[in-house]
Amino acid sequence: MNYQTILEEIQKEIQPYFKNGKVADYIPALAKVDPNQFAMSIQLFDGSQYNIGTVDNKFSIQSISKVFAFTLALNHYGKGLYKRVGHEPSGDPFNSLVQLEYENGIPRNPFINAGAIVTIDSLVSLHRKNSFEYILNFIKKVSNDDSITYDEEIFKSELNHGFRNFALINMIKSYNNIYNPIDDVIDAYFKQCSIMMTPCQLAKAMLFLANHGVNPLNNERIITNEKAKRINSVMLTCGHYDASGDFAYKVGLPGKSGVGGGIVAIVPQKMAICVYSPKLNAQSNSYIGTKALELFTTKTGLSIF
Ligand code: GLU
Repeated sequence: MNYQTILEEIQKEIQPYFKNGKVADYIPALAKVDPNQFAMSIQLFDGSQYNIGTVDNKFSIQSISKVFAFTLALNHYGKGLYKRVGHEPSGDPFNSLVQLEYENGIPRNPFINAGAIVTIDSLVSLHRKNSFEYILNFIKKVSNDDSITYDEEIFKSELNHGFRNFALINMIKSYNNIYNPIDDVIDAYFKQCSIMMTPCQLAKAMLFLANHGVNPLNNERIITNEKAKRINSVMLTCGHYDASGDFAYKVGLPGKSGVGGGIVAIVPQKMAICVYSPKLNAQSNSYIGTKALELFTTKTGLSIF
């Protein structure tokens, strides 16, 4: 299959859609990005990459970071993690508070904010004030790139405008499902959301999930086969908040989005894909990114269905 030609076709076909969507504006640092960017990167097991658009520009990975934190927490706690955070879709927006109260502070899944905060708390229990470095080092390892870091301005912006996330963590703490000081947990959470990566780096970093938990580029096992299956399942069912069903319907791949405008998608046994375009749809997923992945799986037949 000629992936480069397919990427070029996709870039052409998405042009009319740039008028749709809206850049994330819940923090000022994200509201100022150039709304018309588009980049897509495909990483194959043999090390070859196919790229189009601004693939070397870093963007704020936001909730895509939740996949890495979930991988680390699942690796350590196994099924025990599910006593504190579930693996069911929420059907609610990423930052919703409503379910938490009637479900006694147990978030539905690790990819909504509430669940990601509990997941980070489980890592803070292990690594205390070094939890963020633990997550960042893991990302550096799976992407084989030591230059990856977070953006201080975005981090500060999250901290100064994080009223909902503070509400979430306080509510969860009131149900005794946060074990560590709130400031330590929120610090690690906002820093992981502020990590900056290029689409190329992200596609490479996710490749172990396409290969039963082993990084095919160096044969290093990152997580067990069974747990890699679980992570993919949660990405498929919960990776796009209250549009997870819509993403599965249109794209047919496990994927995870972030409000920065990135989406990663896994094609089992074949590749990892990252697409970036910052204008979001009503459910806070990249509008163009979703469209581009839909075109990709339709053109190639590479969906899991
Ligand atoms: N930093 C964002 C928040 O906590 C992450 C949300 C997202 O990417 O969906 O609100």
